Amino acid sequence: MASQTGAIVQQSLSALMDDSSFLPQLQGELRERSFQSLAAILSTPNKVHKAFLRIALGDGNVVRIPAFRIQHNDALGPYKGGIRFHETVNEEEVTNLAALMTLKNALHEVPFGGGKGGVVINPRTFSDKDLYLICKKYVQYFSDVLGPDKDIPAPDMGTGEREMDWMMAEYKNIHPGSPYLGSFTGKSIVSGGSLGRREATGKGVYFTFRYMLHDYLNEHDGWLAGSGNAFAQTAREHAGRPLAIAVQGFGNVGSVAALEAYKCPSLRNRVVAVSDRSVTLYNEEGLDIPALIEFAAANRGDLPANQDILESAGLKAQVLGREDVLYLNVDVLFLAALEDQIRADNVAEVKARIIVEGANAPVTGEADAVLSGNGTIIIPDILANAGGVIVSYFEWLQGRETQFYTEEEIFKQLYVKMQKTMNSLLPAYFGNPHTLRENCYVHAVTKLSSVLFRQGKLY
Ligand code: NAD
Repeated sequence: MASQTGAIVQQSLSALMDDSSFLPQLQGELRERSFQSLAAILSTPNKVHKAFLRIALGDGNVVRIPAFRIQHNDALGPYKGGIRFHETVNEEEVTNLAALMTLKNALHEVPFGGGKGGVVINPRTFSDKDLYLICKKYVQYFSDVLGPDKDIPAPDMGTGEREMDWMMAEYKNIHPGSPYLGSFTGKSIVSGGSLGRREATGKGVYFTFRYMLHDYLNEHDGWLAGSGNAFAQTAREHAGRPLAIAVQGFGNVGSVAALEAYKCPSLRNRVVAVSDRSVTLYNEEGLDIPALIEFAAANRGDLPANQDILESAGLKAQVLGREDVLYLNVDVLFLAALEDQIRADNVAEVKARIIVEGANAPVTGEADAVLSGNGTIIIPDILANAGGVIVSYFEWLQGRETQFYTEEEIFKQLYVKMQKTMNSLLPAYFGNPHTLRENCYVHAVTKLSSVLFRQGKLY
């Protein structure tokens, strides 16, 4: 388990152990043993599946490609989590991501456990035909441990709806006559995917921010004003005034979150900066986000990379370096690119007082401690970016019922679920000295511990 996640889980378990109202049936030595057992369950995966996929490539070479499926915990339901295609993915990374999925599903009361997969390739260097064979082989090697009631993969970095469609088709070939629509989520709509799945993560990311800064604040301003809590004070300082927003990453998550911010009728936002793998674009007056989305869609997802291209597309912005997005004088920073973007070595340069984690683990543990120490609000990954897995759950349900919901119904249900989670966390967050990340973990670990106890797994 990643060191930050592991430390917070351990901290959450210690707090629960000392809370005599939690599982009062467990006393003395039995309580100690049970909590050791809990720590062991949550810090290690249930099962690790590894294979070397043998692929006859189109160029005539035959290669063996390392691949994993890690099943962390299924106390709350079938394992669930994406499959990452990346040249640096490894067993430790996949195990950490699987553990995060267990906790994320527990936090949002999604009836799934946590899993994750990985294939060690750079997908950009393979032909479509080779990728098709890799997807089929992945399912062939792991087909016994996958399935709608066992383990349900989804897209992650380097995979998308095309790969999920291929994988589901292979699962169907291997298991004729068995239900197959729920075997993979993140599929295309024609293959049984859900409306709204593509936008779900970005919309959910923005929702957590808007809900905290607008809906919750308006409703609870009375007690928040007197709470004396540093995070409540930061939130109140940003309420009701124009907010300058920067977004790192302009892919599936970042571009949707930027558009939500641009269109939001409840908050007076200006999206002044967006960035991608090459550049940051900055305009103090606010960027034309719909036009940038249109540009990126026509240019393999990339933003205009210099002034000439910007001008010929009729767009106005200053072109800055890729990392500059992190250090601008803005109120809010959405991180929707990669992990480890704000670290001990650059945290002092970050000026935003509200940070929203669209990506997984973009703020390191050391940087989090510095930022939280000065009252910066961090809406953590486990809370903010769960829209994808929540709508994956809706996709799985629709596959079982073979009834499909409208996009409006999907987003309505997504917000209902995320609002419920926020409401279960914000009173504690604005009323105790802990970070929102710590509050999320306590919540998730409490839920998992109660279920594991009821299932008789703590002895
Ligand atoms: P994506 O591939 O669609 O977009 C990634 C964006 O980041 C692109 O704009 C890319 O140019 C930019 N980028 C790449 N390298 C960069 C660098 N070094 N510096 C700055 N920008 C860089 O990916 P996505 O689906 O938007 O996912 C973004 C992050 O969110 C990932 O970490 C992913 O694991 C996480 N996430 C995604 C989902 C989902 O449903 N898509 C769900 C949960 C978490």
